[in-house]
Amino acid sequence: MNSTTNKRIALISVHGDPAIEIGKEEAGGQNVYVRQVGEALSRLGWQVDMFSRKVSVDQEDIVQHNSRCRTIRLTAGPVEFVPRDNGFKYLPEFVEQLLEFQKQNSIKYELIHTNYWLSSWVGLQLKQIQGSKQVHTYHSLGIVKYNTIENIPLVASQRLAVEKEVLETAERIVATSPQEKQHMRTLVSQQGNIDIIPCGTDIRHFGSVDRQAAREALGIDPQAKVVLYVGRFDPRKGIETLVRAVRESKFYGDKDLKLIIGGGSTPGNSDGRERDRIEGIVNELGMSEFTSLPGRLSPEVLPTYYAAADVCVVPSHYEPFGLVAVEAMASGTPVIASDVGGLQFTVVNENTGLLVPPQDVAAFSNAIDRIIGNTEWRAKLGQSGNRRVMSKFSWDGVATQLDALYSELLQPVREKEPVLVAS
Ligand code: UDP
Repeated sequence: MNSTTNKRIALISVHGDPAIEIGKEEAGGQNVYVRQVGEALSRLGWQVDMFSRKVSVDQEDIVQHNSRCRTIRLTAGPVEFVPRDNGFKYLPEFVEQLLEFQKQNSIKYELIHTNYWLSSWVGLQLKQIQGSKQVHTYHSLGIVKYNTIENIPLVASQRLAVEKEVLETAERIVATSPQEKQHMRTLVSQQGNIDIIPCGTDIRHFGSVDRQAAREALGIDPQAKVVLYVGRFDPRKGIETLVRAVRESKFYGDKDLKLIIGGGSTPGNSDGRERDRIEGIVNELGMSEFTSLPGRLSPEVLPTYYAAADVCVVPSHYEPFGLVAVEAMASGTPVIASDVGGLQFTVVNENTGLLVPPQDVAAFSNAIDRIIGNTEWRAKLGQSGNRRVMSKFSWDGVATQLDALYSELLQPVREKEPVLVAS
């Protein structure tokens, strides 16, 4: 990119606020992605404005992450939490507010990167109104998700239509794994431009604690066999499968076995209900003695939990990327994951962990036994995982690839250059 071009971008994430606490209802991978991408881009010289919907009167309208990167919260609809499936009706107001913000600040975003289908609709409007160029990351594809759940929400047909339109019309779609790209092509549309650029992880943060120190810090015995889950409480995350698998483990009854289920929740909300349901199953199966639910794990303690674990289990029914798997591998901990979506890309079977069929209790149980029963192999899997993340999934590497893509899109057409993509 030449120096006269303005490196300015709006990252739009209507329901995934990049400046809030992660690990609670509807705050997970997308929030992390937007914040990390935004901050890393700002280090590469971009002026980054991240737009989200304000959900509480206590929230500041603008959060400055650094001198070139900020979160801007727009008021669209009630200033309260709205589940994402009910958010569509507030989008026109979100667009109006964004246009108003531009006017008041004498800015026009030539380039926008939208996240999740709700924001993609906002992007489609900005494209129409002012010719903004659009990059889009799905984070979740409706057509794949609806195949894995029983209660299809009312908004489904709208979502599917918008997801097809954005694929066919955005300047570029960012798929975070080859599996996600394939889903787009086979299930959504043959038209449109897709690059593969993965999600990343903070490789300096994860892997900063060693196993012994981590166990000391958490008061976990060096002999313990620790199985860890980290993530939101959502039925699609498959926590029930993990709990039942641990109950079936040949180590059940061994005093060294420990199950930690980490993740935040709010009583009465959907994640609070799922947490209670999971705790109910733990109690019913007689596992409460060796199972703990420590609540939301803050960024400060997460590396310690990953490092203390013998294995991290990601039992999702469906996972577009799955940051937790990458964070665990970065921490040198093997991963057992469902053989679905982005997990097939990040976890290398028999090399950085094990991939097993989703919802298959016996298969998860067997995989857990294989790893926690073989200390040497466990350590080897952990080392391979760490190496894989270092070479492929750092945020700085991801931001460098996005930087090249954005720069290409802002160039006059004749100067088109090849884009660096991960395979
Ligand atoms: N997370 C966290 N604290 C918790 C639970 C989760 O910080 O108690 C973070 C986790 O480290 C990861 C993100 O939330 O960065 C979850 O992302 P993932 O892609 O695994 O799942 P999603 O939430 O997007 O479905």
